Amino acid sequence: MSGPPETIDAGPFATWLVATDAAISAQEETQVPCGGCTACCTSSQFVYVGPGELDTIAHIPAALLFPAPGLPAGHYVLGYDEEGRCPMLVDGGCSIYEHRPRACRVYDCRVMAAAGVEPDLPEQEDLAARVRQWSFGHPSATDRVLHEAVRAAARYLGAHHHQLPVPPNAPQLAALAVEVHRCFVDDEGPRLVEPDVQAVLVELSRRRPAEMTPIRRRRGARRGRT
Ligand code: SF4
Repeated sequence: MSGPPETIDAGPFATWLVATDAAISAQEETQVPCGGCTACCTSSQFVYVGPGELDTIAHIPAALLFPAPGLPAGHYVLGYDEEGRCPMLVDGGCSIYEHRPRACRVYDCRVMAAAGVEPDLPEQEDLAARVRQWSFGHPSATDRVLHEAVRAAARYLGAHHHQLPVPPNAPQLAALAVEVHRCFVDDEGPRLVEPDVQAVLVELSRRRPAEMTPIRRRRGARRGRT
């Protein structure tokens, strides 16, 4: 009997980073080679559904949508069943795939692999296993430096969570590390540098101006899965 592959090729790191950084910035759909994996759909994750997602809301039974904590009326979360499964997952597939929430469209578990962070909950073992399987290539020194920069950014955010608007969970922290990784690279090298907190705040305010006043304004369901 053959088990799951030890690793899954995630491609050259710099190529993935450029595409993912742009997708996060524009909140665009990501292209993840999921294969038959549904780990993120079975990992006890609340899925945020925003007030503008009328098509999605129309395709989810109202009883499955709950008010998003800390957000105004019209913001929802889609919960999960007693086994941690998304209730819209039917026979191993998304029953509303063409109408799925934006959070699902932009979700990419490779950000955690890139940032070197693990999913938050013990019951997310399948997701953690998938994250560990991704293997990025480093065909050039730039690939390696950029990968180190994203990992350094994740560690830095964790260490400076009292001074920076660090998200409350691993996927969001990893996505933020992608967004601020430039602060950790000296392009002249390229080589790693450690920025001061102010430089990271400036980069954050450039990337997410609406979320910067005041810091830590919204720690609930915000973007991506919660
Ligand atoms: S855990 Fe990753 S690979 Fe699996 S379905 Fe979710 S995004 Fe795709």
